[in-house]
Amino acid sequence: MIIDLRSDTVTQPCDKMRHAMSIAKVGDDVYEDDPTVTLLQEKVAALSGKEAALFMPTGTQSNLVAILAHCQRGDSFIVGEHAHIYQYEAGGSAVLGGTLPKPIVHDEAGTLPLDKILSAIKPKDIHFAPTTLVCLENTFNGKVIDLEYQKTVSQTVKAKYGLKVHLDGARLFNASVATKTPLKELTAPYDSVSLCLSKGLGAPVGSVLCGDFAFIERAKAWRKMLGGGMRQSGLLAAAGLFCLEHNIDRLKEDHDRASTLAKHLITLGWQVKDNQAQTNMLFIHEKEEVLIKLHENMKSKGILLSYGGAGTSLRIVLHKDITDEHLATVMETFQNYQRS
Ligand SMILES: *Cc1c(COP(=O)(O)O)cnc(C)c1O
Repeated sequence: MIIDLRSDTVTQPCDKMRHAMSIAKVGDDVYEDDPTVTLLQEKVAALSGKEAALFMPTGTQSNLVAILAHCQRGDSFIVGEHAHIYQYEAGGSAVLGGTLPKPIVHDEAGTLPLDKILSAIKPKDIHFAPTTLVCLENTFNGKVIDLEYQKTVSQTVKAKYGLKVHLDGARLFNASVATKTPLKELTAPYDSVSLCLSKGLGAPVGSVLCGDFAFIERAKAWRKMLGGGMRQSGLLAAAGLFCLEHNIDRLKEDHDRASTLAKHLITLGWQVKDNQAQTNMLFIHEKEEVLIKLHENMKSKGILLSYGGAGTSLRIVLHKDITDEHLATVMETFQNYQRS
């Protein structure tokens, strides 16, 4: 048996989801003829409290489209130096968007200090790549980002500098469930928000980009240009709708299991970042050689963890296909593990 804790993207579509996909009414969505895609977009727009939404093939394309729809070629945008947009999207905003990302160092809470954001803003001047956008991420490495902080950043950069604010909310549903806060309160400070259906929610494919009507119109054109105009994508949207109906509240189970596992690992003497798991992930911090040995050994026992290499942490992610039985096996395997 393989217990895959590398990511919450590894989930398998269940039989009921496959059934929902198989009976979905579809049409050509490039002609806006797919009723299932339209329904998904309307539902996510309502959940996020935005005027409109657009079904995207991936979160990477969703973030890229958002940047392209907000920025002109030659603009700069502010982003966390460890943010997904900056680190893990292959530099798309620079390569395909002609924009200049300005990375800011995160503080302990995962936030970008407001004074650092403000001092990185460049005005319109022929010497500069003028700053037009700030991108934040919630959750960030499994951490829920403080909502008051996000409101302050948004209000300040909008009021003083007229910037736009985008949220990479790949795991925003986790933040919403963990803090018992309606999604639309978490999205309120933002002009645009990208949400992933294919992370903890368990869809095989898909993200949704949300914003006002004018923004989504521009986003639709950029998505088409990037090759993301999909045809009978209602088959995929049906999986997304299934997830919205069945898989949001159950995220709490993942959070509870992550927290149980974090406590267990701490008892066994492992260094777990922040001493707790707020949502569905935890990170073990040790020397590189310790992590490599742990990673390899767990793999030989059928437990897959995520080690990025050359780093100082090993990531464990809980998701819908991990049951209490799996968790018990993982905890027992750690208990029997010989560190040296
Ligand atoms: C997964 C993820 C994305 C998007 O990833 P895709 O694999 O392209 O769907 C964006 N931001 C964050 C924080 C993510 O974890």
